[in-house]
Amino acid sequence: LEARMQQAQRLESLGQLAGGIAHDFNNLLAVILNYAAFIMEDAAGSPPAADAEQIARAARRGSDLTHQLLAFARREVIRPRPLDLNAVVTEVCHMLRRSLGEHITLTVRTTDALPAVMADPGQLEQVLVNLAVNARDAMPTGGRLTIDTARVDVDAEYSTPRLGLSPGPYVRLRVSDTGTGMPREVIDKAFEPFFTTKPSGQGTGLGLATVYGIVTQAGGTVQIYSEPGIGTTFTILLPVTDARAQEVTTGGTAEKLDGR
Ligand code: ADP
Repeated sequence: LEARMQQAQRLESLGQLAGGIAHDFNNLLAVILNYAAFIMEDAAGSPPAADAEQIARAARRGSDLTHQLLAFARREVIRPRPLDLNAVVTEVCHMLRRSLGEHITLTVRTTDALPAVMADPGQLEQVLVNLAVNARDAMPTGGRLTIDTARVDVDAEYSTPRLGLSPGPYVRLRVSDTGTGMPREVIDKAFEPFFTTKPSGQGTGLGLATVYGIVTQAGGTVQIYSEPGIGTTFTILLPVTDARAQEVTTGGTAEKLDGR
């Protein structure tokens, strides 16, 4: 738990630092882009114009990267409120169906009538999108992306020490793919900011760090189960906040987590 909190704090200060640097850096890149454009104009058609074009291209890539950094660091007003996770899943999946491409089959299984979780809808959307984009990247030749939700009970005896969660009712979100999978050393580092195995220019290494930050701030946990060559499953647990739901749904259809 201590390690989790330290990581959350590190993310927070890193976010602030990155935000400040990204902002200043972006202004410098704008100056570079401007001068490159002057050279391109003055030297149109001659070799210096081609060189200036390269400068401009690199500056644009730098600018894209700083925008991603800013998005990561931005402390937008976060408004947690009681939320139906299924509504967020349905909305994001609507968008994903159009943008994932033909080669990926998206399956969505939502357990009906989930109890509410306390979270910011925009942040939960971001979590889902980041996980879906990673899943897509892990399946370049196609595969299956499965997103499902359920209510689960975290059992005091088994799961609490391992997951660092209080026992009680949770809402579970799982995002599974049939992609490349992740070897142990990648799993161990996956949530670290700037850790990426993707070619430069394609990965920022901020996707999972963002997921981690959002989920832990909402009092939840995120776990990776992955087998190289078979696929990866991300499991997120968010605490149920509706006290009435806790009382009404003892027993019934909730699935037990056994700590495996
Ligand atoms: P990025 O996607 O920019 O690399 P992330 O923080 O989202 O940054 O992911 C970090 C790394 O974790 C990825 O580079 C990749 O190696 C690995 N990873 C994340 N999700 C998956 C997945 N679904 N399947 C395989 N590897 C993954």
